Amino acid sequence: MKSLTILGSTGSVGTQALDVVRHHPDRFKVVGLCTAGTNLELLAGQIREFLPPVVAIADEDAAVDVKRKIGSVPGVELIDGPDAAERLAAETEADFVLNALVGSAGLAPTLATLQSGKTLALANKESLVVGGELVTDLIKGEPERLLPVDSEHAALAMAMRGERREDLKRVVLTGSGGPFRGWTRGELAKASVKEALQHPVWSMGPKITIDSATLMNKGLEVIEAHYLFDLEYSSIHVLIHPEGLVHAMAEFRDGSLRAEMATPDMRLPIQLALAWPERLSSGAEPVPLTDRPLTFEPVDREAFPAVDLAYRVGGLGLTFPAVMNAANEVAVMAFLEGKIQLTRVVELVQTVVDEHEPASVVSIVNIERADAWARQRAAELAEER
Ligand code: NDP
Repeated sequence: MKSLTILGSTGSVGTQALDVVRHHPDRFKVVGLCTAGTNLELLAGQIREFLPPVVAIADEDAAVDVKRKIGSVPGVELIDGPDAAERLAAETEADFVLNALVGSAGLAPTLATLQSGKTLALANKESLVVGGELVTDLIKGEPERLLPVDSEHAALAMAMRGERREDLKRVVLTGSGGPFRGWTRGELAKASVKEALQHPVWSMGPKITIDSATLMNKGLEVIEAHYLFDLEYSSIHVLIHPEGLVHAMAEFRDGSLRAEMATPDMRLPIQLALAWPERLSSGAEPVPLTDRPLTFEPVDREAFPAVDLAYRVGGLGLTFPAVMNAANEVAVMAFLEGKIQLTRVVELVQTVVDEHEPASVVSIVNIERADAWARQRAAELAEER
């Protein structure tokens, strides 16, 4: 039985992780849950069902409401405040922490999990984009303490399983292309929030759904793959695969290619990480092999400049990835609030990246400074007409 803390339990990944636990009660026990505090009914239901000994809530007022709602549930300790996720990750006895928070708020809990000796199942890709060097420093010599949950990276881990690292030539991350595959930049400028939130393959939280519409998500995943698998950027490739069945491929020096396929269902990569190295039964449908042909196409780099921007920023390193990520978080929010057009999101991020004077050393203080500067600059640009 593995004990598990879930950060972001009310989100898209978090709720699906609890579904995995529900289907394997003999394998996993929930010992901690954490949320921001916006979905109180859902959180209260999770507490009643899974009876975690500790629950962390970032919003202090929300924590008071939750306490009232779960008054009759015995043995549940509540901790609250902006650093609640970090404290829960560090202090609670758990074999595993699943970090399914959204945005750079996930970095501190990622570091706290690894510093406290636990294994981290990581959905929060922003942690690695923002603080990749700090994260990988903590797992030197024990890479199995960091397990990918992002579907492409989980697929890559499977495609490389049992292979000799020196035989690997390159990897390919696939993406469905999002709701605007085939659209021109002119058409993208007119895309509505409603259209952008309708992903053709995955049902996810709003931030990653907009990142998928701009393909910034694929850019973030390139940087994530660089740190997770210690890969040169030149050996990480991206292809559009609209059917969403092949999630990643590993190509070897003899020319053979291992493609990892599955129906798009996040419960699969979540349980691969939680049960690693075992495979468990899952509710995922089998891959439909004869329904329609599998197709692959290059990214339209003119319509979707985010991918090239991420390669450039990844190569620059230092505090550039933190700045790109922070500016993107602000720009995505501005788009969702109707303040800017979809095409402006990546333009704005690019401007902030170009203006950035990087710190010469990657440290938590320098990352926080760069993140704060980028957020402020992006917010100013989002207000400009
Ligand atoms: P959601 O927006 O659906 O959920 C985010 C969760 O994090 C919610 O439970 C939210 O709580 C909580 N949260 C947000 N901020 C804080 C904070 N400061 N402190 C504590 N809790 C917080 O996100 P997703 O599940 O879609 O994505 C989570 C991560 O996984 C992202 O990094 C995303 O890129 C990655 N990912 C997601 C996939 C998906 O299918 N959704 C696929 C692959 C990767 P509350 O409900 O109270 O607001």
